[in-house]
Amino acid sequence: MRTTTSTAPTGRTVPVTLASGEQRHHQVLIIGGGNAGISLAARLRRYRFKDIAVIEPKSRHLYQPLFSHIAGGTADAFEAVRLQSAVTPQGVAWIRDKAVDVSTDTHTVLLESGSAITYDHLVVCPGIQNDWSSIPGLKEAMEGPHGASNYEYELAPKAWDLFRGMTGGTVVFTQPSGPASCAGAAQKPLYLACDHWRREGVLKDIRVVLAVPTPTIFGMEIIDEELNRKIDEYGIEVRFSTELASVEPQARTVQLLNTATGAAETLSYDVLHAVPPQSAPQWLKTTDLPAPGNRAGFVEVDPLILRHPRFPEVWSLGDSASTLNSKSGAALRTQAKVLAKNLRAVTRGRKPTTKYNQYSACPFVVSRNTVVFSEFDDKYSPMPTVPGWNNLARERRLTFIAERVMLPKIYWNLILRGLA
Ligand SMILES: Cc1cc2nc3c(=O)[nH]c(=O)nc-3n(C[C@H](O)[C@H](O)[C@H](O)COP(=O)(O)OP(=O)(O)OC[C@H]3O[C@@H](n4cnc5c(N)ncnc54)[C@H](O)[C@@H]3O)c2cc1C
Repeated sequence: MRTTTSTAPTGRTVPVTLASGEQRHHQVLIIGGGNAGISLAARLRRYRFKDIAVIEPKSRHLYQPLFSHIAGGTADAFEAVRLQSAVTPQGVAWIRDKAVDVSTDTHTVLLESGSAITYDHLVVCPGIQNDWSSIPGLKEAMEGPHGASNYEYELAPKAWDLFRGMTGGTVVFTQPSGPASCAGAAQKPLYLACDHWRREGVLKDIRVVLAVPTPTIFGMEIIDEELNRKIDEYGIEVRFSTELASVEPQARTVQLLNTATGAAETLSYDVLHAVPPQSAPQWLKTTDLPAPGNRAGFVEVDPLILRHPRFPEVWSLGDSASTLNSKSGAALRTQAKVLAKNLRAVTRGRKPTTKYNQYSACPFVVSRNTVVFSEFDDKYSPMPTVPGWNNLARERRLTFIAERVMLPKIYWNLILRGLA
């Protein structure tokens, strides 16, 4: 079947809305029109797939890596947003709705509107869920005047407003344990803010505390070396193997728990910058797509070919896939290429033989003009894509320009068009 898509004279994709009880079918149905869904759809269009639909409820597409720069005052909020209608590839149907269940028996996705879509192949990529309510007091603290985060588009500009107004006091930054989208991004607003305070001459009057769940700052020797140097330079107090246990927003205190020793600590704060615990989207956890007994709820996939081991017509990539790598846009860029090739092979009656190499990356923005660039595999062993790896892993201006200036352009113009 050929997709019936609607493209406005402006070149924008007009969303399709289905009535309750309505049914339709697509050869390739993609749940989630974020980084993974749109870049994969674009790549499949290039491979001449004719009947692709993306289910995506939101009208705005967000480039999340810029949230850290918005929180740290090195980007404006508008830079991270495009209309979904502008990023959905031409010839791809955009179904503006929410998936609420998947029936793997009947190859059907049920939507919030009460309609249903059947598929030949289903790609599941609705991202990851921020579990703000899983820590007592955290949600309330974020809603109050002293809490902010780079992990929500709406809270990132608030972070910068709070940081730039500071001339003294205590700021607590927290990074959660468990699965996370680009875990290291929790630290980027920290370094950006410290550099700002240093330039303003107030860093010496601000107590900066960072709680990380790991026994070292990141987990790769060369990167830890660089980050520790910056931490010393800024005078940051780091609590290793430490998690946020609860917040009392009225009293402006956090309770931290050292998971290695069991020791608890209460700290007063003037500003709390927190990153929430994260897990698979709630509705996904209750489908039969996660591995049986896997409470994290991410879609079970063969981590090499990205195909579901029990339901061969189901595929997954990005933050909602239970791959072994550290979740990131850099990882899913590689995954999208693999998945598109494997799906093309299968629809042509061949075996899916292209394998994902477990690549991931995290550019640590460590000042307002430098980056420490980490590239690694699922075991956190270095996996450089550019010769001279050691140079890129050291603090560099060049990698800041690549991350802050070039990457957003590459994202909007190449990655989302299936070209990179
Ligand atoms: C603050 C921050 C900084 C980051 N920095 C970096 C970085 O520097 N480098 C890097 O490589 N990565 C970074 N990442 C990670 C990167 O942004 C993610 O890995 C990437 O966006 C994941 O893509 P995705 O498509 O899986 O999920 P998303 O991009 O989140 O897209 C998921 C989409 O699914 C939609 N959806 C949700 N539920 C449903 C449903 N029920 N039905 C239909 N659609 C649904 C959502 O609306 C959304 O559009 C960062 C992430 C954050 C939060």
